[in-house]
Amino acid sequence: MIRKILVANRGEIAVRIVRACSEMGIKSVAIYTDADRHALHVKKADEAYHLGSEPVAGYLNAHNIVNVAVTSGCDALHPGYGFLSENPEIAEICARRGVKFIGPSADVIAQMGDKIQARNAMIAAGIPCVPGSDGNLADVEEARDLANKIGYPVMLKATNGGGGRGIRRCDNEKELLANYDRVISEASKAFGKPEVFLEKCVVNPRHIEVQVLADSHGNAIHLFERDCSIQRRNQKLIEIAPSPQITQEQRDYIGGLAVKACHAVGYENAGTVEFLLDQDNNFFFMEMNTRIQVEHTVTESITGIDLVQEQIRIADGMELRYKQEEVGFRGFAMEFRINAEDPKNGFMPCFGKITRYYAPGGPGVRIDAAMFSGYVVPPYFDSMCAKLTVWALTWEEVVERGRRALNDMLVYGVKTTIPYYQEILKHPDFRNADFNTGFVESHPELVNYVVKVPPELRAAAIAAAIAAHEGI
Ligand code: ADP
Ligand code: ADP
Ligand code: MG
Repeated sequence: MIRKILVANRGEIAVRIVRACSEMGIKSVAIYTDADRHALHVKKADEAYHLGSEPVAGYLNAHNIVNVAVTSGCDALHPGYGFLSENPEIAEICARRGVKFIGPSADVIAQMGDKIQARNAMIAAGIPCVPGSDGNLADVEEARDLANKIGYPVMLKATNGGGGRGIRRCDNEKELLANYDRVISEASKAFGKPEVFLEKCVVNPRHIEVQVLADSHGNAIHLFERDCSIQRRNQKLIEIAPSPQITQEQRDYIGGLAVKACHAVGYENAGTVEFLLDQDNNFFFMEMNTRIQVEHTVTESITGIDLVQEQIRIADGMELRYKQEEVGFRGFAMEFRINAEDPKNGFMPCFGKITRYYAPGGPGVRIDAAMFSGYVVPPYFDSMCAKLTVWALTWEEVVERGRRALNDMLVYGVKTTIPYYQEILKHPDFRNADFNTGFVESHPELVNYVVKVPPELRAAAIAAAIAAHEGI
């Protein structure tokens, strides 16, 4: 039985995992570096261990972290997302040290983390993939020959990429030649590996991904799909479940493909199989994420299933509690990634003190946040500081609820993506549930908004800023 879990992460996802532990009667152990001394996950966990002054490196030191797990008496480790979550080494170290890693085996993480190996495994299992390279590109000549064969536009992608980085669209040979070295350099810098591959670019696709759960007894189910087509620079901004853009027949089809993918690779724990849907209604496998995802909240909202708790049960060797026909969904859920960024200024990150924060509430509103009034957003990490998830019975209602909750949510001290999301929600194409991954780029006018602040809140914010400045 798992009794104590080391949470190998920070921010809202660390808080999310601590909450799951608390509801299950499991003790939680946080880790933190100097920059996170006053962070929420440190306050909420039962115990917390300091991992040094280096803000990011502490969260990436697998040996150290597993050591803390062992010495603090943890029998399991949850990696969250980002950081070490897709690092096969930590899964391996955990296995060696007798700590249950809450995720798939090191082998499966390694296989799916390499997009070429993942593609090849899916092709072998009969799952449709975008036409592309069989292996890593040897040189720019190979890239050019292959692009000529499959036809432009093409995507150059970092084989070990993630988080939307290391991906470039090339519309012609000139762009391919210009981007080739750039992608290699991005891949080396961001992922420590220079490998790149090429696949056909699906023009204006929808990003549709399927949540899966698989246990150690060979059972696998899917929990329907999420539509993550609202993206900027290949990074998700708003995620929706179920997709308002597909039919029940398409839902059953990709759900089946995702479960097939799990069986094909011997998958265990929660995972996501990402697909692109092209304009002729063809689905193509894109990648598999072997971890909990940022946007898992929308699936939880429509199914009522706590995915983090299910992850823990699976790691504990339990059988899935649901058969495919026993899971259902109701209504629509929408998640907004509230980033400390200035949409009017090229989405530039805005770090600093959140002088005041008023959380939204009311029916169908969920907040997953690492911020609070007085919290200082550190400059070392991702700019996402909260997630707002809303649920309602119909598409029209969930859009209205999103608008209302974003309106209720007031953040002072740093600029956020909230006003930009308000503009997206007003757009007729979005309201008509007709959008693809090109939506953000094709609507640059949406950043021309005016922020209306009620005068009494403006006065309060100014007073708070002065007080903060004077160290009161
Ligand atoms: P999701 O797939 O859950 O939507 P994202 O792609 O937005 O997640 O990534 C979540 C976080 O993890 C981000 O901070 C992102 O930068 C980070 N991340 C994702 N994949 C990788 C990777 N391969 N290497 C480093 N960081 C990653
Ligand atoms: P990451 O590991 O960074 O999440 P993905 O392979 O999932 O990378 O791609 C991220 C995003 O980039 C997708 O959601 C999609 O918008 C875009 N993308 C990736 N591959 C293609 C492709 N072949 N055609 C069109 N868009 C793509
Ligand atoms: Mg992806």
